[in-house]
Amino acid sequence: MKDLNFDIIVVGSGVGGTTFTDYLTRKNPNLKVAILESGSYQTKEDFNQREIDMTALYYNRGAVLSKNLQIGVAAGNTLGGSSAVYTGVSFRPPNSVLNNWQKEFGLEFLTEKFVNRSLDEIEREISVHELPKSWDNDNNIFFQKGAKKLGIPVKRLKINTKDCLQQGFCNLGCTTGAKQGALEVQIPKILKKGVQIFCNTNVISIEENKVNVVVTDNPRNTNPNNLESGTYQLTAKKIVLAAGVLNTPAILLRSAKKLGLKNKNIGRYLTLHPAFNINGIHHKTIKNYRGFPKTVYSDHFSDTDNFYLETSFYFPGVTAKNIPGYGKMHQEIMKNYDKMMSILILVHDKAEFNNKITIDKKGNTVIDYSLSNNSKKALVKALQVATKIFFEAGCEQIMVPASDKLPLTPEDKKNIENLILEKYLNLYKTPLSSAHPQGGARMGKSAANSVCDNYGKVYGTKSIYVSDASLFPTSVKVNPYETIMLLSKWIAENIMK
Ligand SMILES: Cc1cc2nc3c(=O)[nH]c(=O)nc-3n(C[C@H](O)[C@H](O)[C@H](O)COP(=O)(O)OP(=O)(O)OC[C@H]3O[C@@H](n4cnc5c(N)ncnc54)[C@H](O)[C@@H]3O)c2cc1C
Repeated sequence: MKDLNFDIIVVGSGVGGTTFTDYLTRKNPNLKVAILESGSYQTKEDFNQREIDMTALYYNRGAVLSKNLQIGVAAGNTLGGSSAVYTGVSFRPPNSVLNNWQKEFGLEFLTEKFVNRSLDEIEREISVHELPKSWDNDNNIFFQKGAKKLGIPVKRLKINTKDCLQQGFCNLGCTTGAKQGALEVQIPKILKKGVQIFCNTNVISIEENKVNVVVTDNPRNTNPNNLESGTYQLTAKKIVLAAGVLNTPAILLRSAKKLGLKNKNIGRYLTLHPAFNINGIHHKTIKNYRGFPKTVYSDHFSDTDNFYLETSFYFPGVTAKNIPGYGKMHQEIMKNYDKMMSILILVHDKAEFNNKITIDKKGNTVIDYSLSNNSKKALVKALQVATKIFFEAGCEQIMVPASDKLPLTPEDKKNIENLILEKYLNLYKTPLSSAHPQGGARMGKSAANSVCDNYGKVYGTKSIYVSDASLFPTSVKVNPYETIMLLSKWIAENIMK
């Protein structure tokens, strides 16, 4: 029987958990640290770029639907968490968001000096850089062409990759390890430092200094476990929850009774950065599945209309899900997969008390989220703008989820504002998606509106901390990876003080 007593136990091997562990062990190399991960042990050698096989890297094979069935949230359930399947788009948190977190939530540590120094280091270590223009595939080129004709400024994205072969399959796991996620950067480093990682190890509940887990057999074609299947109680001086937004709040809720937690904010203020991926059929072959999926974006409407546009690419199954309609008509549209242009719309949703992660009677995560009127407005405006870009870029048919007509064709060009309207937005027919859930264990100076203090410690506990995207007090409004690393670094550097 292994010794299951540790100085620190980290729950979850995503970027939050592994960045925390990496910084913790830099300063405290002698600590005995374990990471518990409910997903299986798979690395680049195990990925095969096949959509059906690789959906096993995700919760629920790709998306966990909200209770009202209006939005599907994608998150990784594998070693490395979502960083195994993310795209690598790297944004610094906007100053306006950081100022708000400082002023409204008392996150005083987010000084310009701390943020800039930390992110300079983080970006160096995960190889963040702009991709050269020569890497733009047709989808990225046509997006720029359409936006330029409309006078919409476009910026280049920063990506964290090394020796990328532009295979385009980032969201199915990178087979060459070019994407510098936790599997390539943090995990190899912390393993060398003696950190133990236990996969297929599901944390059911926690108590002060105790973690209750169930270990299950490793699935076929994955690497073997280092613990026999069964139930265990592990102990640690400190426990750090980094199980992601879908699960960190759920673990706290399942454990609330034993921990004596009564904080009504647990699970609350969930934001999802709701997204529509929309597609247009171009008159020429695009082959968006070749090249890096996204190199450019526009934040032109961010302050006025609350949305970003990014270029994107999705696999046939996901694309079919994103295209409204059914049956023969849908099948005919999908035959044009080779000509499809794609744009991703990301809406900045507000952190609202009623949007939350809860648990059902069995203790499983429930996403209780409704799109606000403001978000609906942003979505409709974004769909109108994206449709105009598609037309200007040379698309002949556009499949819009909030349109009176399907597909829209060039004769509709002058009538976009009347054809794409909120009244046609039927989220039961074409659900939104989310890959950037945030909040649920928000950080702040007071337990009155937060779950964790400025050091990530859960209010009302002695030994429980959080280090993942659940800490965000509000939506960060951009792709969240770098911000998660920033907060995790802060928590790691202070937890032993
Ligand atoms: C398809 C996709 C593309 C994305 N692209 C980008 C991008 O380009 N740029 C960007 O900034 N962001 C992107 N994101 C978002 C980004 O990847 C996530 O925000 C980030 O990785 C979340 O990190 P985390 O550590 O908070 O949580 P997670 O990565 O979700 O890690 C949580 C881990 O905890 C494990 N776990 C959960 N519950 C338990 C339990 N009970 N017991 C044990 N283990 C548990 C999970 O299996 C998981 O491994 C993308 C996400 C997806 C899904």
